[in-house]
Amino acid sequence: MNKPTEKPLQFSEVPLWIAGKPTASRSGRFGEVTNPATGTLTKRVPFCNAADIDAAVKAAQAAYPAWRDTPALRRARVMQKFLALLQEHQKALARIVTDEHGKTLPDATGSVQRGIEVVEFACGIPHLLKGEHSENVGTGVDAHTVRQPVGVCAGITPFNFPVMVPLWMFPVAIACGNTFILKPSEKVPSASVRMAELFKGAGLPDGVLNVVHGDKEAVDAILNHPGVHAVSFVGSTPIAKYIYETGARNGKRVQALGGAKNHAVVLPDADLEFAADALIGAAYGSAGERCMAISAVVAVGAAADPLVGLLRKKAEGIKVGPGDKDGVDMGPLITRAHRDKVKGYVDQGVKEGAKLVLDGRGQKVAGAEEGFYLGTSLFDHVKPEMTIYKDEIFGPVLIVLRVDTLEDAIRLVNANPYANGTAIFTESGGAARRFENEIQVGMVGINVPIPVPVAFYSFGGWKSSLFGDLHVHGVEGVKFYTRTKAVTTRWPHQDTPAPGLNMPTLG
Ligand code: NAD
Repeated sequence: MNKPTEKPLQFSEVPLWIAGKPTASRSGRFGEVTNPATGTLTKRVPFCNAADIDAAVKAAQAAYPAWRDTPALRRARVMQKFLALLQEHQKALARIVTDEHGKTLPDATGSVQRGIEVVEFACGIPHLLKGEHSENVGTGVDAHTVRQPVGVCAGITPFNFPVMVPLWMFPVAIACGNTFILKPSEKVPSASVRMAELFKGAGLPDGVLNVVHGDKEAVDAILNHPGVHAVSFVGSTPIAKYIYETGARNGKRVQALGGAKNHAVVLPDADLEFAADALIGAAYGSAGERCMAISAVVAVGAAADPLVGLLRKKAEGIKVGPGDKDGVDMGPLITRAHRDKVKGYVDQGVKEGAKLVLDGRGQKVAGAEEGFYLGTSLFDHVKPEMTIYKDEIFGPVLIVLRVDTLEDAIRLVNANPYANGTAIFTESGGAARRFENEIQVGMVGINVPIPVPVAFYSFGGWKSSLFGDLHVHGVEGVKFYTRTKAVTTRWPHQDTPAPGLNMPTLG
């Protein structure tokens, strides 16, 4: 057999990865994986049932005691080797992302890089597992804390970042001493199996990382399995809420990141050329299928007319085509159904009276007629009550709302139920500071359109964009995947009296 890192597994049916090897599902149900650039079916993916999930949990449970007791430094050394393998295979992983998701190769490569940065962070996790110690909290009494892993953790991830979002989760959990079950999106399942193969090649013991596939049936089996102690989820808001409620009801620790409607507020004093360039990338990059995409521009006062003119000119220049073709700026959407849904939002915007400045509905790509393409659309004069403002569209549709003042802009953003990311474009430090202070959103950019925190900070939104208390990766990720134990110590041979029946005060 090939060493797992030398030659990737070739498969037309995506395997599960359980106990360190490719495994077939017993469910008999399958989904289809397509290449969105051509619309062709490339693989089928099994949809796991409860028996498959139970097999993965058993493998993770069997691996847990030895992995938990492996010194944190030795775990970190396995992580360092995994890091080196991810760097070596970055291009190949990006290729898998482009083939199954559709985004351009340079964009896919960037997303893999952002995931790799989480593994770099995870290599230093022993430092964050240190506890606290206080001597003499009472006479002859010491106190200390230890951070211990939670047990078997699971991650359920969306289609739009097939490498990066799984890497937000399992390297942090595993570096903390947990074992893990990953259920990637059934639309983009291959990269997760490849990463598990690479991790095995780095020396990860069998069963520490397992990959399962599927839909609601698999997710419910994870949420209802008593052997799973913590669940991380990234996806749309209705499912995030369901995961949070069901997992919590079953006594699990849950962090569930949801959808978004990210606003960029542009003040009249901003460098409008700079702002327009930034907004174009943030709105149409990855065909708008990013949870941190800017989907709503809030133009303040005199900024509106020139800004809309610039956005239109720049959006018109975006080249649409297959993600693996040189010179293409924007690839297809994930599925035909999603492309049609996004197109339907453009129809709806027109029907509700917004001004369609640029219409991407007629997009054709020569030689790829069956691909799931849509051109760039831009709406002006959008009102808060319109569907294209209220819903997360998740496609290449940018809308502009016009307001009179910064106060109006802040009020508008704060009234939206989503609160993942937001940005302000201005030359005024005072306005930026006020925005940062008053805005009710988890991640804020000042002249930065997509303020995704670097790996040693934590990522997460507020309100309907995150259910749970802790964000992913960074220090909050380590807190999520560990439990604190507080230990109080007294040695009885010392000359201190034992506590009586009253509440001990230790002093
Ligand atoms: P989705 O919610 O449809 O699916 C996410 C995961 O949940 C998948 O693994 C899927 O198999 C599973 N799932 C789907 N339906 C389910 C059900 N009824 N019960 C249980 N599990 C179910 O999301 P998606 O379409 O894959 O991804 C796009 C969404 O993810 C967007 O809303 C986007 O904003 C969001 N997203 C959020 C973040 C963030 O950090 N907040 C990051 C990336 C994507």
